[in-house]
Amino acid sequence: MAAMGQYRNIVILTGAGISAESGIDTFRSAGGWWENHRVEDVATPEAFARDPRLVQRFYDMRRAAIQEKLPNPAHEALARLDAAWTSKLLIVTQNVDDLHERAGARRLIHMHGEHLKAWCTLCDIRHPWRGPLLDNLPCPVCGGHALRPDVVWFGEMPYRMGEIYAALGKADLFVSIGTSGAVYPAAGFVQNAVELGARTLELNLERSQGSRLFHESRLGPASVIVPQWVDELLA
Ligand code: NAD
Repeated sequence: MAAMGQYRNIVILTGAGISAESGIDTFRSAGGWWENHRVEDVATPEAFARDPRLVQRFYDMRRAAIQEKLPNPAHEALARLDAAWTSKLLIVTQNVDDLHERAGARRLIHMHGEHLKAWCTLCDIRHPWRGPLLDNLPCPVCGGHALRPDVVWFGEMPYRMGEIYAALGKADLFVSIGTSGAVYPAAGFVQNAVELGARTLELNLERSQGSRLFHESRLGPASVIVPQWVDELLA
C-alpha cells in the first residue's frame, strides 16, 4: 500500500479492537460484556424499558471505567494522520469511548454514540456526562426525568449516516481497523467502498467476517500495525 500522493480522500472505520490494548474489552473478548450480560439484557431499547436500573448501572460502570483508560499508539497514530492529511479524511468509530478525541483526532464521527453523553428523551438535548445516571437525575435543561446513555442500542438507527455515506462515496481509500465485521450497517461499508472503486485495507488482529472484500489485510495488534501504516502513508 502506498504513498500519500496516491490517495486524496480517506475514510477510516474503527471498532472495539483499536481500544483493546487500552484495556477496554471488545464485545467478544473473554471477560467482555458479553460474558456477564446478554446483549438483549443491556443494549436494546426493550431492555431499558423492562429494567432501566440494570441498564443504567451497566452503562454507569462502563462510563466510569473508560475514564480510567488512556489512548494507545493506534489512536495516537490516527490523530497524527488526521493532523497531517491535507485532503479529506474521516474517522468513523463504532466505539463509544473517547480515546480517539483524547489522542487528538478531530475529523471524527461516533456512529454508535458516546459513553460520556446523556440524552434527554424529553427535550432531545444531549449533555456531556461523566457521572452515574442510575439516580434518575433531572435533565439540566428541561428538568424532566428521562436521561439515558447516548449510546445507539441494537435496533436503533446509528448517527450521521448521511455524512458517512457521502464520505464513502468520495473515498479512494477505505481502511477498517479492529472491527469484527459482525455489526451492520458498519460491516457493510467495505462493500460500498469497493462498489464505488475505492482501495480497501483491513488492519485487525485476525481476519474479520468481511475479510474477502478487502484488497489487503494486515494482521497484528493495532498498536503496532496502525502506526506502521500511518508512517508509510505519510512517508
Ligand atoms: P467486536 O468486539 O465485534 O470485534 C473486535 C475486533 O477487534 C475483532 O475482530 C478482534 O479480532 C479485533 N481485535 C481485538 N484486539 C485487537 C487488537 N489489539 N488490535 C487489533 N484488532 C483487535 O467489535 P466491533 O466490530 O467494534 O463491533 C461491536 C460493537 O462493539 C460496536 O458497535 C461498538 O459500539 C461496541 N463496543 C465498543 C467498545 C468501545 O467503545 N471501546 C467496546 C466494546 C464494544
